[in-house]
Amino acid sequence: MEQIYTIPVNEAFDAASEGNSRGCPFCMLAEKLENNEIDLILGASMMEPDIRIKTNEQGFCRHHFDMMFSGKNRLGLGLILESHLDEQKKHFSKNGLISKPGESEIRTVSRLNENCYVCSKIEYHFSKMLETAVLLWEKDPEFRKKTSRQPYFCLPHYKRFLETASSYLSKKMFKEFYNAVEETENGYFDALREDVSWFCKKFDYRYNDEPWKNSKDAVERAIAFLCGRVQTKK
Ligand SMILES: [Zn+2]
Ligand SMILES: [Zn+2]
Repeated sequence: MEQIYTIPVNEAFDAASEGNSRGCPFCMLAEKLENNEIDLILGASMMEPDIRIKTNEQGFCRHHFDMMFSGKNRLGLGLILESHLDEQKKHFSKNGLISKPGESEIRTVSRLNENCYVCSKIEYHFSKMLETAVLLWEKDPEFRKKTSRQPYFCLPHYKRFLETASSYLSKKMFKEFYNAVEETENGYFDALREDVSWFCKKFDYRYNDEPWKNSKDAVERAIAFLCGRVQTKK
């Protein structure tokens, strides 16, 4: 277990189980990583030659271009794009984009669209955080209690939490782990389903005088539960 990840993982699990920020702790971690990478790339890392080599090669996904575009450093983004475009141009034929249609040309273009420097940086740290959460759960009784106090794990992160646990824990331990997290997950699933259903009922005039209960933000909570707040797909 890498010590540098234990503090942020513990902090996210604390924050997600308390107060107003209740949500998926892994979404919180991913969001922090994402904001941090965007700040770095348009700030301290921007002129670092070894990082520029990577951004020239990998580029960015649409979502992360949008985040950078709405940031303050438009010139920085321009400079990153200038050298990225130069690098990408090398992959194309001299005559322009694609001289002869064929599989390898299509592969070249699709590779350009699939990579993202920020996504790959997030994934690097995020997978280690998942690992850390599993190992903390295995070794630290306090962390187990904390895990059972989580409101829920969004489905994409729940999947990755289970995958990581299944590759690090013994069969017996994994079963114990699964029973613990499944209880949290199922409890939230049922409550969320009720809230969404109540939200829909509130549009029926017969329910006009009924209170909203916990359903006012049920739609956005359902989307956050199903898809997560930040995409961290492998
Ligand atoms: Zn999540
Ligand atoms: Zn990205």
